Amino acid sequence: MSKEIRTRFAPSPTGYMHIGNLRTAIYEYLIAKIQNGTFILRIEDTDQERYVEGAREVIYETLRSVNLNYDEGPDIGGAFGPYVQSERKEIYKEYAEKLVELGGAYYCFCSKERLDQLRKGSESQSGAFEYDGFCKILTNKEVESRLQNNEAYVIRQKVPKTGSTSFEDLVYGTITVENETLTDGILLKADGMPTYNFANVIDDHLMEITHVVRGSEYLSSTPKYNLIYQSFGWEIPSYLHVAPIMKTAEKKLSKREGDASFQDLIEKGFLKEAIINYIVLLGWSPSTNEEFFTLNDLREQFSIKGLSKSPAIFDINKLKWMNGEY
Ligand code: GLU
Repeated sequence: MSKEIRTRFAPSPTGYMHIGNLRTAIYEYLIAKIQNGTFILRIEDTDQERYVEGAREVIYETLRSVNLNYDEGPDIGGAFGPYVQSERKEIYKEYAEKLVELGGAYYCFCSKERLDQLRKGSESQSGAFEYDGFCKILTNKEVESRLQNNEAYVIRQKVPKTGSTSFEDLVYGTITVENETLTDGILLKADGMPTYNFANVIDDHLMEITHVVRGSEYLSSTPKYNLIYQSFGWEIPSYLHVAPIMKTAEKKLSKREGDASFQDLIEKGFLKEAIINYIVLLGWSPSTNEEFFTLNDLREQFSIKGLSKSPAIFDINKLKWMNGEY
């Protein structure tokens, strides 16, 4: 018997959900439902500084209004709610410490002053800040005594600096990244909160996610995630990165700028069925010439094969046409 398909929609509540985010949720949902699998919702809110008041509620309402119901979650008094990462802080800390033991991460006690100095030095090259691995060579004994002294620390990923890391994306094919471009990024911050990358990997593993659908902007960081899976000896999920929905030829839709929000479109009089139909077809081609699909049709006819790696521009006139306005 083949393994149950499990997918998740994992939005960060850092702005209002736009139709690109909704499209990702629909693809995740359909990939599970075409095989009678399980779809879950996980709110990725560990980056509290970027949290936007009310964004979480918009996510819940939008999913509810289009019937994208999630199938499981933690008990909230008789019912189940979505998974919320800020309520799972202790889990990530435990796994970050385990990863240190396994050799995939290390404690870093560098001061803000030292890091600022490094940042200045590295700005001239790629612009990206690269930590120099200063704390990687600390002995266990030194680490122990600094922890006992209650020194502030972060936990950093220990990435290889030579060779390359590859993975197979089900939409984009083989993706290879040279390891020298990877940095020893922070996994656990000084306040004990995980960074987005780390919590994402731990949860995808613990929630037994088999297929990850997300925007193509994550293609280049996926090898770093995979190195974490490898250090733990965990199975890596299948990845499907999807091309963005563009506002113009150069600019992607932005949730921080409130572009093309589902709620705005509903308020402007667009039918939710028309919006769903339109956005699904912006990144997916059916195997027939059919142009009108309801979510129920898609639950039977959707296939991973039709997903596209070319970005599409949001065209309000096409949406009006699907809405029966012409
Ligand atoms: N939390 C991420 C976002 O909102 C999603 C990343 C993922 O699906 O892995 O962009």
